[in-house]
Amino acid sequence: MAEKRDYYEVLGLQKGCSDDELKKAYRTMAKKYHPDLNPGDKTAEAKFKEVNEAYEILSDSQKRARYDQFGHAGVDPSYGAGAGAGGFAGGFDMGDLGDIFSDIFGGFGFGGSTRTRNPNAPIRGNDVSVQIGISFMEAAKGAKQTIQIQRLERCDDCQGSGAKKGTSAETCSDCHGSGQVRVGQRTPFGMVQTTKTCPKCGGKGKTIKEPCESCRGMGRVRHIRKLEINIPAGIDDGQTFILRGQGDHGINGGPAGDVNVTVSVRPDPLFERDGFDMWCEIPITYSQAVLGDEIVVPTIDGKVKYTVPEGTQSATVFRLRNKGIQFVNGRGRGDQYVKVVVEVPKNLTNKQKDALKNFENLTTDKNYEKRKGFFDKIRDAMGKN
Ligand SMILES: [Zn+2]
Ligand SMILES: [Zn+2]
Repeated sequence: MAEKRDYYEVLGLQKGCSDDELKKAYRTMAKKYHPDLNPGDKTAEAKFKEVNEAYEILSDSQKRARYDQFGHAGVDPSYGAGAGAGGFAGGFDMGDLGDIFSDIFGGFGFGGSTRTRNPNAPIRGNDVSVQIGISFMEAAKGAKQTIQIQRLERCDDCQGSGAKKGTSAETCSDCHGSGQVRVGQRTPFGMVQTTKTCPKCGGKGKTIKEPCESCRGMGRVRHIRKLEINIPAGIDDGQTFILRGQGDHGINGGPAGDVNVTVSVRPDPLFERDGFDMWCEIPITYSQAVLGDEIVVPTIDGKVKYTVPEGTQSATVFRLRNKGIQFVNGRGRGDQYVKVVVEVPKNLTNKQKDALKNFENLTTDKNYEKRKGFFDKIRDAMGKN
């Protein structure tokens, strides 16, 4: 495999560039190498893939930070040795680091400060956050996707008790299950009784003589799961949707947490989005603008025909009602705006130039309303010379 190019270099950017610069560079490059615009061109196709990959990593702040620090090995598990285990398809990329933290903290699912009086009270599982990259079309129309998450699930072998099969957790003999013990403390005001976390059971109120081997006594184990998700139509870049009850399992019968899915929408080479409206720009020729013509307009439902009327000025905007983005929380859609821009022809042959000069000689003020009006104004304001 050839040496991978630096993602910033691929997009023609410098490390430390802003999100806006990143988006702009991506739009330009994606347009340049888009397969639709370069049919059959294998080099363009490869470049297009490279550009997309670079954008997918750099537009995700977490991945970008990893990439800045570790290079390709930080974001691609198949690149070099010893990289993290997380793939980037699902957007979840904690890798080995995540496991280390889960070993230290994850088994409890709650911090010291919230370790309350009753250690047997049900506790809701933590939320799990993932970030996914989707295309403009997927955001506009909705899509199904499979994502990968890591979550803590109740251990099947011990039914969550943490005790080895055939044994059970016992109520702590020091704190009698409360998880806290009273201690006398000498202070300037004399002896004061305070409570502190029971050192014998660590505040759990229970002791486990023989811990379950599967969960090492934690009662929950970390699993990697694939979830089939429906991306809601109309979702926009940076928005988050929630999969209820798909996060970490609870403790002591508490409910599961949620999975928060944040989407990062790749810019589209044709469409730009503005709320639920969308814009596209279509180049037309000089004679199409002058004579009128039927043009093909891309929409998210496919191509439609649109008749540009005779005498259409450059930068005229047409509105296609209800051809925009689906409202994410209701019925109806936004509109699509189509801006037609007259492309001035270049690289004319002499023959073409002559034809144009002949045409120009045949035009009069009657053909150029604006131009005539403009020179009338100049004359009014500045006199004949
Ligand atoms: Zn277990
Ligand atoms: Zn105890």
